[in-house]
Amino acid sequence: MLNRKFTLGFFPTPLEAMENLSKKYPDYNLFIKRDDNSGLASGGNKVRKLQYFIYDALDKGYDTILTAGAQQSNHCRQTAAACAKVGLQCNLLLGGEKPINYNGNLLLSHLLGANIHFTGDNRKGENLESIKVELESQNKKVYVVPYGGSNLIGAYGFVDAVKELKEQLSTMNLKMDYIFFASSSGGTQAGLKLGVDLYGLDIKLMPISIDKLGYGDITLDEAVLELLFEGQKALSIQKSYSINDATLIRGYDSQGYGVVTSNEKHAIKELAHSEGVLLDPVYTGRAFYGMLDHLKNKELRKNSNVLFWHTGGLPANFYYSKEFM
Ligand SMILES: *Cc1c(COP(=O)(O)O)cnc(C)c1O
Repeated sequence: MLNRKFTLGFFPTPLEAMENLSKKYPDYNLFIKRDDNSGLASGGNKVRKLQYFIYDALDKGYDTILTAGAQQSNHCRQTAAACAKVGLQCNLLLGGEKPINYNGNLLLSHLLGANIHFTGDNRKGENLESIKVELESQNKKVYVVPYGGSNLIGAYGFVDAVKELKEQLSTMNLKMDYIFFASSSGGTQAGLKLGVDLYGLDIKLMPISIDKLGYGDITLDEAVLELLFEGQKALSIQKSYSINDATLIRGYDSQGYGVVTSNEKHAIKELAHSEGVLLDPVYTGRAFYGMLDHLKNKELRKNSNVLFWHTGGLPANFYYSKEFM
């Protein structure tokens, strides 16, 4: 399963020390994993998932990819780039109404040649089935990638990422104690958890919740647990998972998805000014703020090694430019 991937990105992504920031928080050694440099039209965590989806779609003879996201979806932009690279037609369902001017990720998805359908209030793929039927009536063979790429196939991308991390840590003679990252549709979180267990790493995952809404009646924690059950069977992991293995860190998502507050702005400036690395206002800015808050409030073990997994999102800064002026 884990070797059913089609190489689309630049791997391994760099693992770097954040030396300047570590001086500001002298109780900890801070590191960053640069999935914002993973390739595919400005990178991000979805490249890892797409390597597995694209393999599967090509293997099974599909000619069209259909997926969904918010209007500024990084996942959709990376999917559009992957499709262009392998010659599949890309159809995107994006929430909201068609704007007069395209900007940020939406502009890039358009430039990458995706066919864009606007779906109003349905930003989590509610229309995937109906559009699939419509495309099939035009004789397309349609492969559906779920919202955010978060099913087990997508999660394999992050199981595989843990293997990559393990090899880097062993080369650098390092051990990580915590990994902070943004969790929003659950595939990254489930994949990291399965990977840490499969490859036997002793690292505490710190998934910062980005979107307080789940899927209908299901919380994101429950959706992640479902993926853990599926993955555990498929990968023969000897563990009995419970909701504690899937729990997100709440408290930074209360303003809702895509609402930029002083927290995200503070986090973006702190990392940009100290290390010259850019975050995004929706995901990584929020997650990085969550990490800084934990560092300040001494909630982590002293002298521990703390990794921030940078999941990308750069183009969204241009959409939110007014927030920063
Ligand atoms: C999609 C995304 C995430 C969240 O990953 P999930 O697997 O959907 O939880 C985090 N950061 C960025 C920049 C993303 O685009």
